[in-house]
Amino acid sequence: MLNVVIFGAPGSGKGTQSELIIRKYGLFHISTGDILRAEIEKHSELGTTADMYIKEGKLVPDQFMIEILTQTIEANLTAKGFIFDGFPRTLAQGEALENLLRERNTNVVAVLNLDVEEDELVKRMLNRGKETGRSDDNLYTIKNRLNVYNIQTEPLKTFYRKKGKLFSIKGKDDVNEVFESVSEVLDRLAFKTRK
Ligand code: AMP
Repeated sequence: MLNVVIFGAPGSGKGTQSELIIRKYGLFHISTGDILRAEIEKHSELGTTADMYIKEGKLVPDQFMIEILTQTIEANLTAKGFIFDGFPRTLAQGEALENLLRERNTNVVAVLNLDVEEDELVKRMLNRGKETGRSDDNLYTIKNRLNVYNIQTEPLKTFYRKKGKLFSIKGKDDVNEVFESVSEVLDRLAFKTRK
């Protein structure tokens, strides 16, 4: 399996790059943000709980997220590979992902870290908020999300760097240029996993 984590701060382009990756490599997309937004639409119990955290720019507690991830992986074991978008966001989630995949005799082959400066992130998210009406793309929530990213999520870079899995990519460029860099890494790894 070719399992890839698309990593980066909120607004770094994870969703956009995931779509291009899916189209080229046929991986199964797991976006925990999309899953939570679908639960909110359905007014499910999980959706109602998640909505409170999302509006504040806080992380939904690990136990909910790990449960969602486990179920989604279990339901799609015939996939060629997964692209994890928005997961893991804490060290506990990173450990859980390692264990979940190891139990299924597979692993994460690459963590693609999209590097974008904070000013640019804020600009992008404010624009997205205007275009899509996404409830957490307002200045108050954006500031909290960036703070949470720096404190809780950033340490995962060291976690994956130590495992030799972190690939940093300049994310400021135009979408297609970023995807070229993403493809270079994935082509190399896809070739290796086939051998
Ligand atoms: P995203 O669409 O990935 O930016 O996620 C939107 C929001 O959903 C985040 O700001 C969090 O509140 C919540 N969320 C998504 N994925 C996770 C996760 N892996 N752990 C905790 N909260 C998450």
